[in-house]
Amino acid sequence: MAEIGGRLVIRQGDAVAELEKLALETRAEAIFFNRDPDPFGRGVEERLEKMGARIGIAIRPFKDVAIHERNEVLTGGGDPFRVFTPYSKAWAKLPKPPIAKRISRIQSPSGIFSLPHPDNSTWDLASAAKGVLEAGEKAARLRMQAFLDSGLARYGAMRNLPSGRTTSRLSQDLRFGLISIRELHRATLDKMETLDAAGRDSAATYVSELVWREFYMQVLWNFPAVLEEEFNVKYRGMVWPGKTANFQRWCDGETGFPIVDAAMRELRETGFMHNRTRMIAAMFLTKDLHLDWRMGEMWFMQTLADGEIASNNGGWQWSAGTGADAAPYFRIQNPWSQTKRFDPDGTYIKTWVPELLNVDVAKLMDPPAPGMRLALGYPSPIVDHSVVRDITLDLFKSAAVQ
Ligand SMILES: Cc1cc2nc3c(=O)[nH]c(=O)nc-3n(C[C@H](O)[C@H](O)[C@H](O)COP(=O)(O)OP(=O)(O)OC[C@H]3O[C@@H](n4cnc5c(N)ncnc54)[C@H](O)[C@@H]3O)c2cc1C
Repeated sequence: MAEIGGRLVIRQGDAVAELEKLALETRAEAIFFNRDPDPFGRGVEERLEKMGARIGIAIRPFKDVAIHERNEVLTGGGDPFRVFTPYSKAWAKLPKPPIAKRISRIQSPSGIFSLPHPDNSTWDLASAAKGVLEAGEKAARLRMQAFLDSGLARYGAMRNLPSGRTTSRLSQDLRFGLISIRELHRATLDKMETLDAAGRDSAATYVSELVWREFYMQVLWNFPAVLEEEFNVKYRGMVWPGKTANFQRWCDGETGFPIVDAAMRELRETGFMHNRTRMIAAMFLTKDLHLDWRMGEMWFMQTLADGEIASNNGGWQWSAGTGADAAPYFRIQNPWSQTKRFDPDGTYIKTWVPELLNVDVAKLMDPPAPGMRLALGYPSPIVDHSVVRDITLDLFKSAAVQ
């Protein structure tokens, strides 16, 4: 942005109060911003409108975070969708907004006060997680291009494998607007044209994942209560009777379930977790440890570099069995069989759980004999999956309000 005359001004405090000061200092005529789907953003935006009216400057909100936002995708009867597949069909039929031209020049007034920029030594960057991907538009664009060139055509076949670069890793860039969703979507469709039939199927799967992102945004927009309560009315107020002491072991990756521990340690060390292992770890917290999905949702928001309220809430409620999901609560993943399917050579586990580096891969696929450990210094499983699974089924049966 600096190359075209832009300036980043950093202020700290209440967003609306600081914007008002800045607008008055710079004699701004208008404030332009991209709308948020979450209730916090909506609250800020409503206050911004009032502030603009009071001090006499124009407030110009734009749609940028999604291709289709808020209530643009509705059923024939004009209601919001509660299930993904019909939503995605309706989404696909709508005309897509054009891609905006890149701005070539910005005029910034000089002499505006700003707090130090992040590259200044006063910011504590050293404490940030070591493995977080490089930030910035340049890095985001390189990632997008690399994925389109060599990842898209095999995405469909590889996307469920947590080890290696099997997905686009663009979530943090989308989360912070470092790449435009319209541009990514367009570039995906353009690349799709050049691929063979299998590659085109793969690209269609990728587009479908981008639509999941917008599905959860519209769920949050239309049903903001999902942040507090279960989306599925049948399970509202459901009690999760698990031991809270187990929560810390889950956060620390010390459950004795190698695939869960690998996922939780990947998160701690890199601020990222693969989608497949997000589902495994989330189901484990709720359906094996019987702890409230809101605890895990909060931990993910605090630790994920791509932490985004709508997808996070949607992913947690889906995994907990309380969410916008066509499949019922008795979809309970077995962490051991998930390992066999998605980490058959143990590479993912061995990358993140060094205690298991020298353990025979076959031993990572099934629980050890009762009371036994897989390796010295590594805990025995915190629960017996087959036992806690039955308890989960009873919990849901007794919680269901017909
Ligand atoms: C419990 C749980 C919590 C999650 N929390 C978040 C979160 O806070 N922020 C977030 O961006 N995603 C979240 N997801 C969705 C998904 O795991 C991540 O978007 C994905 O792992 C990011 O990696 P990627 O960019 O390589 O994805 P890719 O597989 O390359 O997908 C491309 C893009 O599609 C979108 N996408 C893919 N899968 C999903 C999905 N299931 N739901 C919504 N959007 C999706 C993302 O924007 C992603 O960047 C969560 C999923 C679960 C199960």
